[in-house]
Amino acid sequence: MEAINGQFQAVPLPYAKSALAPVISETTLDFHYGKHLRAYLDNLNAALPGSGLENLPLEEIVRKAEGGIFNNAGQVLNHSLYFTQLRACPSAPEVNEPHGPLADAIVREWGSFEKFKQTFQQQGTALFGSGWVWLSADKDGRLAITQEAGAGNPVRHARTPLLTFDVWEHAYYLDYQNRRAAHLSALWQIIDWSVVESRYNGR
Ligand code: MN
Repeated sequence: MEAINGQFQAVPLPYAKSALAPVISETTLDFHYGKHLRAYLDNLNAALPGSGLENLPLEEIVRKAEGGIFNNAGQVLNHSLYFTQLRACPSAPEVNEPHGPLADAIVREWGSFEKFKQTFQQQGTALFGSGWVWLSADKDGRLAITQEAGAGNPVRHARTPLLTFDVWEHAYYLDYQNRRAAHLSALWQIIDWSVVESRYNGR
């Protein structure tokens, strides 16, 4: 992601704000995308001038920055990946799985897609406090699930981020209150695997 005239922008949503319901309500998106992401962007854009990082792409800033710039840049990158990996909620539950090389790599690592889902969800549920659970790939395409506290992102460990669940309470509290596991389990219906597959194939 590149800044335009020195300003990073909110990633456009590839769906209507009401389209993720009932998994994620329009009200949650209004706050999460419209206010939380907006605040991270405004903080980042205000902090960059004079930092020495202002001409770098976002991923480079996240790799190099520390402190407040890292926190806000990390959250901008994380939310950009999070919001663009989602799709409209189907009217009835349906099979929703990856295909191709990503699906093969998942089976190699976890034995089955179901086992992968269980492990990913368990890591998200068990993460203490605010953070993100990630599926990422190394340069050889080997996959891993990792927990990151705060604004952490696998690019800090030279890995390509593929899929992420936001486990900050602001991501689910209005719809699920304290039931983080119920929220994470519902998210599988609205993952756009074609986006995750292209991140894997383009790494
Ligand atoms: Mn969030």
